Amino acid sequence: MSPNEVTITLPNNKTIKIPTGLFINNEFVDSVDGKCFETINPATEKVITTVAEASEKDVDLAVNAAEKAFNEVWRYVNGAQRSKLLNKLADLMERDCDELAALESLDNGKAYKSAKGDHVPASIEVYRYYAGWCDKIHGKTFESQEKFSYTRHEPIGVCAAIVPWNFPLVMQAWKLAPALACGNTMVLKSSEFTPLIALKTAALIKEAGFPKGVVNVLSGYGKPTGSAMAYHMKIDKIAFTGSTVTGRYILKAASESNLKKVTLELGGKSPNIIFADADLDEAVKWAHMGIFYNHGQCCAAGSRVYVENSIYDKFIDKFKEHTKMMKIGDPFKSDTYQGPVVSKAQFDRVMSYIETGKKEGATCLMGGDRHGKEGYFIKPTIFTDVKEEMTIMKEEIFGPVVAISKFNTVEEVIEKAHMTDFGLAAAVFTKDISRAIKISNELRAGTVWVNLYNLISPYSPFGGYKQSGMGRELGKYALREYTQVKTIQINL
Ligand code: NAD
Repeated sequence: MSPNEVTITLPNNKTIKIPTGLFINNEFVDSVDGKCFETINPATEKVITTVAEASEKDVDLAVNAAEKAFNEVWRYVNGAQRSKLLNKLADLMERDCDELAALESLDNGKAYKSAKGDHVPASIEVYRYYAGWCDKIHGKTFESQEKFSYTRHEPIGVCAAIVPWNFPLVMQAWKLAPALACGNTMVLKSSEFTPLIALKTAALIKEAGFPKGVVNVLSGYGKPTGSAMAYHMKIDKIAFTGSTVTGRYILKAASESNLKKVTLELGGKSPNIIFADADLDEAVKWAHMGIFYNHGQCCAAGSRVYVENSIYDKFIDKFKEHTKMMKIGDPFKSDTYQGPVVSKAQFDRVMSYIETGKKEGATCLMGGDRHGKEGYFIKPTIFTDVKEEMTIMKEEIFGPVVAISKFNTVEEVIEKAHMTDFGLAAAVFTKDISRAIKISNELRAGTVWVNLYNLISPYSPFGGYKQSGMGRELGKYALREYTQVKTIQINL
């Protein structure tokens, strides 16, 4: 049995109270079979606490709660009231931003400074953005002399969200906020590696005053919890972010169960193209951020950097110098840029890619091994002269590892950029605006950044081409993913 609430002591000796049960019908409860699992601090490899693990029966309970809340309450709550609740949640997140940032840092290993400065505010912004949409989701009218018809954009019903560990707070905001704004209820499963932030959010959802059953939060593994959600006959839509392998599984489960609607935000191997006329210092700064931000654990990470031949050596020197300046270590220290990767499994996976890179003949210019003796720290690793056929140029590593290579012509670099099954993001660095636009139009990617990297805003759609996913999150586009359109025809 998990205790229903634990007090966690942070490295700075501050304490945080956190519920550990499953959040169903606005109550934190133990799982039906009493199972629980440990969550680990990746910086110390020590257990932070145990949390309840949802079984298939718990998934049923959460879905039933969400279904009842949808049918009896939430679908009749008007847009203005939904907006008020989302804004209230955002207010509470602002109030508790230190705790939210600390939990992200503790459970995931990311730098506290980054969690506090970027991820908590970015999540709050998403709730506020969709709070603004709640009472502006309208249909259209179509008139002729004898007939009148109109459309309604209605909620889908019970939605499910399965989120990964790389940005726990942000990823859940991208799904919860538009789903609730459109009038759906929700069952959300956090990643087994980072359950704490979702539990804290659940407590804030209750405090904000959301009616019971509107949001239900489950901790658990892919199997049985996530799988039970993917196959559930009463879940009308599922939104997933994570690996391509799991994305395929969810799509298959949806087709084999009730044909629930699916949106997928999957992996990437994004090309970052740097031309000789780019502002070199800026390009170095953004390219570094493109790959090493969040320790490379970003779906949109600029993990393939292509540099024009004439500036290749200069770029590499500057890139190495810049990387050396960024501190790796205790996530709670104010000057830390990079903490540990999230888990032992991820540590082993990234290290094995590094070994493969070395074996296949890429030059390991910097890093290439662990940092320190305790915790899942991996030194920022730069591979140069990487060939297109090498594994580290082809597969998503999802860690602090960059593959750099050179190019001579626009045609060559576009061909190389497209040598991937993914299409999530890309970037171009050049002062030539005409070239920037032509290449941006040419690249098969859901987002193209010009002279910057990683800018994601609540109002711009985000999602993938090719095997990087289906559907779009954020912006007005996400409203389409959480509503269905009804046509009403009237004989005049
Ligand atoms: P994953 O896809 O296994 O896990 C993501 C989420 O899906 C978690 O909540 C997990 O519990 C759930 N899940 C796993 N199997 C499931 C199943 N059969 N049915 C339903 N839900 C299931 O990813 P991971 O194991 O955490 O990481 C593996 C790799 O995936 C990473 O190294 C990285 O390459 C990629 N990844 C990508 C993203 C992204 O944002 N695109 C995020 C996390 C991981």
